[in-house]
Amino acid sequence: MITVADNSSNDLMSVCKRRGFIWPSFEMYGGVAGMYDYGPLGCALKNNIVEMWRSIYKGREGFVEIDSETINPREVFKASGHLDNFADLITYCQKCQAPYRADHMVKEFYDNPDILTPKQLEEAFVEHKIRCPACGGELGPVEEFNLMFRTNIGPGNARVGYMRPETAQGIFVNYSNLYRYNREKLPMGVIQTGRSYRNEIAPRQGMIRMREFNQMEVELFVDPEDKDWVRFPEIENGTLDLIPNTTLQLTTMTVKEAVEKGVIANRVLAYFVYTTKQLLISLGIDEKRLRFREHEKDEMAHYAADCWDAEVLLSYGWTEIVGIADRGNWDLSRHSQFSGEDLTHFKKYDQPRETEVEKIQPNSKALGPAFKGKAKAISEAIGAQPISAIKDGKLKVTVDGEEIELGSEYFQIIKRVEKVTGERVIPHVIEPSHGLDRIFYSVLEHAYEYDEKEDYVVMHLAPAVAPIKVGVFPLMEKDGLDEMAKRIYEKVHTHRVEAYYDGSGTIGRRYARMDEVGTPWCITVDYDSLKDGTVTIRDRDTTEQKRISAEDAPRIIDELLAGKAFADL
Ligand code: AMP
Repeated sequence: MITVADNSSNDLMSVCKRRGFIWPSFEMYGGVAGMYDYGPLGCALKNNIVEMWRSIYKGREGFVEIDSETINPREVFKASGHLDNFADLITYCQKCQAPYRADHMVKEFYDNPDILTPKQLEEAFVEHKIRCPACGGELGPVEEFNLMFRTNIGPGNARVGYMRPETAQGIFVNYSNLYRYNREKLPMGVIQTGRSYRNEIAPRQGMIRMREFNQMEVELFVDPEDKDWVRFPEIENGTLDLIPNTTLQLTTMTVKEAVEKGVIANRVLAYFVYTTKQLLISLGIDEKRLRFREHEKDEMAHYAADCWDAEVLLSYGWTEIVGIADRGNWDLSRHSQFSGEDLTHFKKYDQPRETEVEKIQPNSKALGPAFKGKAKAISEAIGAQPISAIKDGKLKVTVDGEEIELGSEYFQIIKRVEKVTGERVIPHVIEPSHGLDRIFYSVLEHAYEYDEKEDYVVMHLAPAVAPIKVGVFPLMEKDGLDEMAKRIYEKVHTHRVEAYYDGSGTIGRRYARMDEVGTPWCITVDYDSLKDGTVTIRDRDTTEQKRISAEDAPRIIDELLAGKAFADL
């Protein structure tokens, strides 16, 4: 097989454009950097990837799916931290005003330039004599540039909104609804796929850095003291290629070893790192070009307690396509703090525990003479207050709409042993966050084979993701061959098993068209078919051909899609 050539991304992008996978958006108006539209084949491939992701998280793991708003009010991102922290560093040319991502300007001098501070970047410009690539002008101060698109909800500035930079927040703000739906049990897994928006300073590398992109996010809410997963034993002997942040060296170890040696923080995080590997491989990502890199401490997002990136080797170099983070309780505690809503889980103990609790007890002897007829109601109101309601030794209660401030002579704090059935905890969140467009592009690049001598492209797409599953051809478009081929096409084609009828050009040309878009099988109707009802079926990867009964074609395609080997037909 011809391996990835330096220019393969260009060649691949031109195939993608020509064959209707993706098109740069708004080309007739000059295009907008970082924006792409999915054509018919791209749309089918993208949907197939989403279906495979769903089959793991919704099917195998039993998680639930939601679909939340893409425009969110400002409050959501104030609480999530995106308003204050979700920024890249920018510098403008002092002469021509061209904007640049400051860390990209120094990337040839540092391994990890995105951990440099604005001051360090400014010093690096001077030290390495870096100037504006466009006009040679001096680069200006380095500032923060928030990546969120801002808008107004309704007319005027009454309510400021932002396009979501990740789908995750829609799940966090629905925590109470989801928790109720899940009958107040943990663990609780929720998935969401949809658009996210980031006003990237310099979108480059095609579909890798887009301004409007698609995510498939999974938020798993777990008990902070129970970071385990029931199915862990099923995968514990699977292997992972890992680059831990302690050694920065690539090491291969089993999932079990990774947890036991403390390389991956806990079993649930490790389980989902491995699940990510399973998903990516089933989508057609080459295992040899896949690794997991742990974020360095100063590289971690503002919310992450630990984070591993699934990186694939592309013609652009090693590229992050999925991030698997332990977000701790950051999201729920912040939303609870900013909204005032209780976002906890009631963790019931196996056995009730005896615990010493502090209570406020009303002092009836003092209340009676001072408040007469109201004393009973005040006494009850005092008993209902938590300890935290005492401020500077005083307690405020409301009785019949009247607020009464009580000095410490009217109550005392007592200690009592009580049976406690459980406690309230803020769940932790484990998040596998998939960049759908990056996965889409990686699947295509890893499937792409170009034979220079023959000038022939074959896309070795996994059958499950291939947009067209079967091409159906009549040898000649006459003598009834075309009618028979059309009948087979009608029987095979559904919205899930897409078939493609092609009657024009030589058979070789028609195979080539299907190979180029990754169609795994082609069926050809010839003159023998009219006599004995058989047709040939051709396998894309081996080009082997077999004779099958036309009647059986739909069933055989189903079996092949379910994993039966072509050789076993
Ligand atoms: P993050 O929240 O930055 O970890 O992003 C989660 C996933 O979304 C990443 O692993 C990427 O695959 C994807 N992603 C992030 N930013 C972009 C972008 N600008 N264009 C395309 N995909 C992106």
